Parts: sequence; structure tokens; C-alpha cells
Amino acid sequence: RTVYVNGAYVPENEATVSVFDRGFLFGDGIYEVAAVVGGKLIDFPAHTARLHRSANELGMRFTVSDEELLAIHRELISRNGVDEGVVYLQMTRGAIDRDFMFDTEKLTPTLVLFTQNRPLVDTGVAKAGMKIVSIPDLRWGRCDIKTVQLLYPSLGKMEAKSRGADDAWMVRDGVVTEGTSNNAFIVTQEGAIVTRPLSPSILPGITRAALMDYSAVSGTPVEEREFTIEEARNAAEAFITSASVFVGPVVSIDGVELSGGKPGPVTLGLRKQYIEESLKRAI
Ligand code: PLP
Repeated sequence: RTVYVNGAYVPENEATVSVFDRGFLFGDGIYEVAAVVGGKLIDFPAHTARLHRSANELGMRFTVSDEELLAIHRELISRNGVDEGVVYLQMTRGAIDRDFMFDTEKLTPTLVLFTQNRPLVDTGVAKAGMKIVSIPDLRWGRCDIKTVQLLYPSLGKMEAKSRGADDAWMVRDGVVTEGTSNNAFIVTQEGAIVTRPLSPSILPGITRAALMDYSAVSGTPVEEREFTIEEARNAAEAFITSASVFVGPVVSIDGVELSGGKPGPVTLGLRKQYIEESLKRAI
């Protein structure tokens, strides 16, 4: 693969970043993952807008234009022949001798992008659904910023795997916050979709926002409110949203089956709608 590092397109085994990079030493970095279907980027402007927001919240410099970012994405998609997959982008505050204190103005941000080829539309998850277990949400208080501090979510996924599940939903103060790398939704017996409101406790998912927009247009009732794991276990259906899974059906929570242990009809309808609508807008 060709990867992008600080202005250059290089073979992946020749790409390097400084050992003093603050992304490496302090987790002082932000990222985005954008899906590619048919060689086109899904929800790209929203991902770029969120990258700006993350940089702003951390007081990180932004030294590349939105036009350049799009051009880099497209160049990598083309060089690596990505038909279906993702583009990963990481921006860190930069490299400087190790110190907790920093002077952002003296630092040049590090920018790395690479692609991953993988099927996104026709996947096992879409057909069989995902098993979820609940774990406490032990992350920091600014989960609304998309930082590369992903140790807890990574360990959470490993715990889910060791418990025979595919992923974990996190619980704080008795309510579900989100999945380890996705937003959490339930479908009520009345057919409304429920997801918790945005706050510093969750990432403002791009897929979450798009799905809610499409639902408003198609008349699916949306309730933005908190819910507990008990309510989720008794829901008609449940699903997750993320840029790389789109809408992923949840078929069990802590061993309790939902919608007969297979993807529910509302969820599958929303998945179809999301894919159709976002492909229309892909660039
Ligand atoms: N929540 C967390 C913690 C995530 O890491 C992600 C995606 O990586 C999401 C939600 C979903 O966000 P998006 O739909 O923008 O991919």
C-alpha cells in the first residue's frame, strides 16, 4: 500500500514518524475514519468538520486545507485501488522532546493517512448481527473528542470477545453511553428509534447524525433520550451505527436475545436506507 505521511506518498514500509511524536508518547492526537464504497467517500464533509472540531477542542493547529484533505483521500483511494474500504486519517500535535507541557505554536502537526480494503456493504455482521455485552464506561470525561486514546475501547472489545460476544456497550451512571467504537440505538415495541442525546460522554457520530436526518425525512419516530441496559434487553430491536459498519444489527445483549436472535426488520430497513441515501451523496 501507499500511505501518506506529512506531505509525501510513500510505500507503507518506508513511512516513518518521530519517536518523539506526541501522538505516540501522550496519545495527543485525533483521527477520522471515512468509508469508501464504489471508490467514493461517504459523509466526507461531516468527517472533515468533526476533525476541525476535535483540533479546536484540543487547541491543535490545523495546517492543511479541506481541499487538500479531500485530494489526499482521493489520491490514496486511487493509488491503492480502493473500491470498498476505509480511509484512516490521524493528526497529532507534532514531535518535540518529551515534556508534559507544550507550546503548540512551536509544533508542526503530524498528518498520516492510509487505506484499508474491506467489504462494508455485504458483511457477516449485517446478515448475522452482533452479540453485545455491557461493561462499565471507564473512559475520560471528553469522549466527544475523537482522540487516539483508544486503549479502554480496545480492551473492552477484547473482553467482549472473551465473553463470546462481538462488541461491548458501555454504561455510566446506570445508562448506556455508546459502543466501544459506535453509537448505540434501540427500537421500542412501538417502532420508535431511541438514542441518547449528545454530551461530552459520547462521540457525536457522523453515521448517527445522518441516520437521524434520514429517519426524520422518512417519518420514523426518533427519541433522543437516555436508556438503561435493562430497557435495551427488553427492546424490540437494537443496533449500532459507525462509519465503517453503517447500521449494525444487535441480536443479543448480555446473553438475552433480541428480535428472535436475528437482525430486526426496522434495523434492516434503516441499514438499507442509510446505504442508499449516503451513496447518493458520496463524493
Ligand atoms: N462512538 C465511538 C466511541 C466511536 O469510536 C465511533 C467511531 O469510531 C462512533 C461512536 C461512531 O462514529 P461515526 O459514525 O462518526 O463513525
